[in-house]
This record gives sequence, structure tokens and C-alpha cells, in this order.
Amino acid sequence: MVIRQCLDRMTVDHMRVVCCRNPWVYRIGADMFLITKKDRPMMNRRTFGLTALACAAAPSALLAEDFEITRTDAEWRSMLTDLQYRVMREEATERAGSSPLDKNYAAGVYDCRGCDLPLYPSQTKYDSGTGWPSFFESLPNAVATKPDRKLFSVRTEVHCRRCGSHLGHVFDDGPQPTGKRHCLNGASLVFRA
Ligand SMILES: [Zn+2]
Repeated sequence: MVIRQCLDRMTVDHMRVVCCRNPWVYRIGADMFLITKKDRPMMNRRTFGLTALACAAAPSALLAEDFEITRTDAEWRSMLTDLQYRVMREEATERAGSSPLDKNYAAGVYDCRGCDLPLYPSQTKYDSGTGWPSFFESLPNAVATKPDRKLFSVRTEVHCRRCGSHLGHVFDDGPQPTGKRHCLNGASLVFRA
């Protein structure tokens, strides 16, 4: 593992913190970078926010053994696109408005892309205006949640209860009858009419 001292051409989208003890160690592809002390003041607030976010993210990785359906990392990578892998297995978030499922209101069921388990019925889908597919309720025994401390407040992470694939987050500002907003990544879902 090589740590290089570098800041040139570093973009926020490609940075991943790899060391929780030193949030200035980043990975870009296979290369490790250490942001030197003299360069740190140059980093803007957005970059700094991401530093804290990504640093806290590392310990919350999903544990495969907790789930009924498990696959090796190689199996996950072979069946998913890069974006799907980052969202489903690393809890990344797709860009708002990027999923065609956001504006899909056809009747049907949204299955887990990782294991085909039916997760959300179209009857509970609504337009939250966020740019992410949103539902006020899942199907029974379909999803599970855990606390997510990646941002500065604790959010509720939601994942497939059978294969553990990350779906999104649940918020308390949804419509009745549940008042919940399951804010999901379309990348994690497959729509079946
Ligand atoms: Zn699943």
C-alpha cells in the first residue's frame, strides 16, 4: 500500500477516506493519497464536510453473515454495474433525478436488485419532489433498518432484509397513513409491472 502526497486534480467525487484515524488519507482507484498539512487549508467546506462524512462511513459496512442471501464481493461486482455496486454494497447515494424509476408511477412491484425479493408496492409510491423514488410503506417483512451516523445527525438506513443491499433512508416527513418517507436509490430496485 503506497501513500502518496498529492492534491493535484483531486475531485470530491472520486475521493474516499480509507483511514478513520487519519481523515486526510484518501483512495482514488487503487492509489492512496495523503493530503499534506500545507494543502489542507486549500480544501473548501464542501470537501471538508465530505471528509468527515466518509471517515465516519467506514465502520458501518454491511456484514454479509447477517443475511439469508450472501454473495462474495466478486459475485456482487460481477452482477452489478459500478453505480449499483457503490449504492447497494457501499451505501453510496445515486445523483438526485438520475433514476428513471423516480418518475415511474405504473402499477407493479419494486423488487430488490440483489435478490429479487419484492420490497415496495407501487400503491405506496409518491412524488416527494426529492429526485429519488419515494414510498410511504414497504411490503411486510421486506426491509430492515439500522442507525446511520455518516452525517452529522443520525439517520435511519434501510436495506433489503434478505440480502442486505442498501436501499436508502427513512425519514419522518412522509405522507399519511404512515408519515414515513422511504427515500430510495432507483439503482437498488427493479420494477416489475
Ligand atoms: Zn435483497
